Amino acid sequence: MQRQAVPVAPEKRKASVFDKCRSYDVPDRLIAAGVFPYFRVIESAQDPEVRIGGRSLVMLGSNNYLGLTNHPKVKEAAAQAVVRYGSGCAGSRFLNGTLGIHVELEEKLARFMGKEAAVTFSTGFQVNLGAIACLVERGDIVYLDKQDHACIIDGARLSFGTTKKFAHNDAGDLRRLMDDGGRKGRLIVVDGVFSMEGDIANLPEIVDVAQQFGAGVMVDDAHGLGVLGRRGRGTAEHFGLEDEVDLVMGTFSKSLASIGGFICGDAELIHFIKHRARTLIFSAAPPPASVAAASAAVDIIEKEPDRRERLWKNTRFMMDGLKSLGFDTGASATPVIPIIVGDDMDAFGMSKRLEEEGIFVNPVVSPATPKGRALLRTSYMATHTEEHLARALDALEKVGREFRVI
Ligand code: PMP
Repeated sequence: MQRQAVPVAPEKRKASVFDKCRSYDVPDRLIAAGVFPYFRVIESAQDPEVRIGGRSLVMLGSNNYLGLTNHPKVKEAAAQAVVRYGSGCAGSRFLNGTLGIHVELEEKLARFMGKEAAVTFSTGFQVNLGAIACLVERGDIVYLDKQDHACIIDGARLSFGTTKKFAHNDAGDLRRLMDDGGRKGRLIVVDGVFSMEGDIANLPEIVDVAQQFGAGVMVDDAHGLGVLGRRGRGTAEHFGLEDEVDLVMGTFSKSLASIGGFICGDAELIHFIKHRARTLIFSAAPPPASVAAASAAVDIIEKEPDRRERLWKNTRFMMDGLKSLGFDTGASATPVIPIIVGDDMDAFGMSKRLEEEGIFVNPVVSPATPKGRALLRTSYMATHTEEHLARALDALEKVGREFRVI
């Protein structure tokens, strides 16, 4: 029988959760202005030069810091893993999804990081959601830097504890928040390298405060791993504070040239997280190709420290170049170098103009940055040549002058 549609007067229509979708036009306005910068389709590997629309662009918007995503050994390891184990694990690590290569990679990561144990998840985002939410229980407090990554904030929101945010990289503010006279479980979670502005967490002072109040310290080293420290272990190694940091999480999606994530620390902490993190237990395991690629990347990081040196040479070249042109690069001290622009529309306009000039950069606007601090996020790879970087500086100078940023 045909169902009859019953006409409803507009004023009687119920509010729908979909109403906002139908009137959502923020991207459409950027598209109409010709400056929409998101979901650009890349037609090549994530190399120092990428192809977009048949043109070659110098890539200053990738997290492929060590240039390993297109490395023959990494690709070969991924291909071999597919041949041997197939395309997926069809289940969670907890149940049917654990392969020998997951366990080997965990042992390798723990050894590489100088920690007792590690556990791998399917993304870095899931590490923070799962680990923070299970560690911070009712009555506990988790302390976050105001510029911590979204997945740290979401992990804290998923927990049953209380979240307190301290001013960016301000250990004095952290001390003030902690000084509440209570006896509570406390966890501090910070980015080792802040993802948008490339500044490094003030770990020496944060660790001091943590020790004063008996708080645990967890560092999200998504952007520090493979980049900072003598052996590439990240921010804690950079400061000589590896024993003082309880937990380090990392992602495979940057220096490790793959996708997935891990957390490492004392065996008892990892044992707990492994059995309690819901994003590990109720989500499928990282697939064979991803695990094998990350594992090959760790081997290369250990065997080829000169890659890190090349990354830092490129970073210094760009930091000096940008500063001498008069750009404001904030407090960056890493291969993530922001160019502070101020106005959101200028950031969109500049990234469009740079694309026309053959350079790919990511505009970052509020709420990802504080209001009025829109920026172009540039990031560098070990595999950029001086010629790529000189081309980028020329284009940045030209476009920077057009927009009166310099
Ligand atoms: N932490 C930080 C600081 C990040 O920048 C990111 C990714 N952009 C993540 C965690 C999440 O990692 P993944 O990409 O592996 O989900």
